[in-house]
Amino acid sequence: SFITLDGIDGAGKSTNLNTIRSWFEKHQLPVLFTREPGGTAVGEALRKLLLDPTTHANARTETLMIFAARQQHLDEVIKPALAQDIHVVSDRFTDATFAYQGGGRGLPLADIATLENWVQQGLQPDLTLLLDVPLTVAQQRLSQNGNPDRFEQLDTAFFEHARTVYLDRAASAPQRYAIIDSSLNLDEVALQINQALAQLFGL
Ligand code: C5P
Repeated sequence: SFITLDGIDGAGKSTNLNTIRSWFEKHQLPVLFTREPGGTAVGEALRKLLLDPTTHANARTETLMIFAARQQHLDEVIKPALAQDIHVVSDRFTDATFAYQGGGRGLPLADIATLENWVQQGLQPDLTLLLDVPLTVAQQRLSQNGNPDRFEQLDTAFFEHARTVYLDRAASAPQRYAIIDSSLNLDEVALQINQALAQLFGL
């Protein structure tokens, strides 16, 4: 299966990746963990460029770079693993592009869908774990860990829009998404994640 983990900055992806790792270890299922943008040499080089605040890529350039990284990631890592019956867990995937470049930066969602079709040719995650938190919670968490990414440069509206796009997408395809209430304590969040994984694998 192809599983993705997504959500706004501060939603708790890094912490909950450990929960997912433990679940796969417990059930002794072969799995590959990877991330976007990144996951390949091309992808990691593009990630460095994307996260460099001096680059100033406009929204379309940024989107094309993310899909370039994604194409390489699919061809070099994701599809070969799935073909060998290795499960894949990706820290972010195309939902992030809809949320950040669409919702946050305001690109038409239809344009992102065009690139999605061209790059993915219909391939979609079997399950997307969407970590959802109110902005105030995300901001509080980020200020505690001193996260130097997006929140330093972008306003609250950016993330409100990103969160809205994530939730809209989840609402429009409920069979593919598990919306995880990530404002709860870690044990309860882990329980929700474990339940979603168990349901996917029929365990
Ligand atoms: O997933 P992670 O938090 O490591 O992402 C690194 C940074 O890249 C974050 O600040 C995130 O907001 C940003 N990002 C983005 N657009 C994407 C994916 C990630 O701006 N499509």
